[in-house]
Amino acid sequence: MLEYIPVRDLMRSDFAAVSTRMTVDHAASLMMEKDVPCLIVTKRSVPVGSLTERDVLEKVVAANLKPSQTIVKEVMRQGIVTTNPGTDIILAVRKMLRGSSEVIAVVENDKIVGILTKADLIRFSPTMMEISRELAKVKTAEDFGAFDETVPGYCEGCRERSDALVYHDGQYLCRDCRG
Ligand SMILES: [Zn+2]
Repeated sequence: MLEYIPVRDLMRSDFAAVSTRMTVDHAASLMMEKDVPCLIVTKRSVPVGSLTERDVLEKVVAANLKPSQTIVKEVMRQGIVTTNPGTDIILAVRKMLRGSSEVIAVVENDKIVGILTKADLIRFSPTMMEISRELAKVKTAEDFGAFDETVPGYCEGCRERSDALVYHDGQYLCRDCRG
């Protein structure tokens, strides 16, 4: 069993948030200027999606759309998994895989405070060796047990250790917190 590592220890703070209505050319320049692999798309400061360089290449450049006339909303990945800084990293990885997303937004007090990318998780070592090995093997979320009914870990509600957390409304919760 891995020790408890909070998301806070591994999240990165060099991210940028953009609005759904920003044009893709502006978003792409921001990505380069800030040297970030991914943008978090927000609507009234709530994270609603993500945009990577690859999305821009595949959905805009390759599709022959004009970046100056395309808005982020049209090409972003809809929906984004969120977590909070105190969440057990293993649970965050499970959430990432469930949502088949490349990035998770870390939210605290309704504010995005960081991001966690799959690429970062794979790179981390040696603390993350075990997770890295798991992730490297993973072909599907099922392989990682992302859809297991109950998993051990620290509850995202009360932070207490439980052997039977259940995924409920986007959070891994213990029996008490599920009510
Ligand atoms: Zn709980």
